[in-house]
Amino acid sequence: MSSFRNLYIHIPFCRSKCDYCAFYSEAGREDLIAAYLCRLKEDIVAAELPDVIDTVYIGGGTPTLLSPQMLRELIPILPQAEERTIEANPETLNPEKISILADNFSRISLGIQSFDPQLRRILGRDCSQNAIENALKLIDHAQFRHWNIDLIYGIGTQTLSAWEWELEQAMNWPIDHLSCYALTREENTRLAPDAQTLDHEEREADMAELTREVIHRRLTQYEISNYACPGGECRHNLNVWHGKRYLGIGAAAASFDGKDRWNQAADIEAYINNCSAEIDILAPGERAREVFAVNLRTVEGWNSSSWREAELAVSIDWTQMVEKIAIIAEKYPGLIDYGADFIRLTQRGRDFWDIIAGELI
Ligand code: SF4
Repeated sequence: MSSFRNLYIHIPFCRSKCDYCAFYSEAGREDLIAAYLCRLKEDIVAAELPDVIDTVYIGGGTPTLLSPQMLRELIPILPQAEERTIEANPETLNPEKISILADNFSRISLGIQSFDPQLRRILGRDCSQNAIENALKLIDHAQFRHWNIDLIYGIGTQTLSAWEWELEQAMNWPIDHLSCYALTREENTRLAPDAQTLDHEEREADMAELTREVIHRRLTQYEISNYACPGGECRHNLNVWHGKRYLGIGAAAASFDGKDRWNQAADIEAYINNCSAEIDILAPGERAREVFAVNLRTVEGWNSSSWREAELAVSIDWTQMVEKIAIIAEKYPGLIDYGADFIRLTQRGRDFWDIIAGELI
């Protein structure tokens, strides 16, 4: 039996491709969904996971592009889990799908990105205001245990007050989790250069600061881009950041077994045809430092016991990590808070996470 207790399944189909999107997904390939699901089911069965695991996360792409019938076929072969998350896009939801999802998932993550139709146009995101309103009402009515909304900031000429309005729109709903990402111009996307006006660190920091102020009565920041009520944190992501092992099934899905990370081919047909995964091999010490750096994105950071519980094939002694951090902290004053039994980044340190991570890895 497999030892993985966290499962990620990638559904790489979308109705249309958003201009900023760097996730692997394809639009207009609905003809491949049935064959893709067959392959997924074979892989899930072959993984021999325990009947009950810690987390299941279905992401994409657009998992809710699957028809009710397809969802009904996929769900029974998923392991039970304390947390089962599915990502959803407003334009693909209807009462029948929501009822299936509410019966089988404890957590729904709704990709809105912006409540402003003009900003969604800049993002090349094909979703009507009606679809957003309907999706919000359907999810609200279904009463999932946990509900996340995704938003993007720094779009075009978006001002701080426009961002505040977006946050208020999201907070009008009984969500217990909010993910806010700065718009970034990734390679191989169609995003126009003038769609992104954030002057990087300083402006991002202003928007993040405003986010914390606007939502602080209900949600607190627990990772650079994520905010939650106590108990509303995404357990799947926390496990990944804490160096727990996870299995990814589907095109472009990533897995980690405590030693190596590997990615399935980012190609639907290659995945259906069983192409082999690409393995990212790192020396054990480098892998441990990489895992250590990733979790410094969380507000809590590490302590000696959470570091011991990371499921690494070969770890590094906690005292060595403290010594290494002490050297980096001296070079970058004010960015790292640490003691004999804890290491975390300060608020300002998280704004410069990539620099600290670069020093560690
Ligand atoms: S819906 Fe999501 S995954 Fe699909 S193209 Fe848009 S951002 Fe990418």
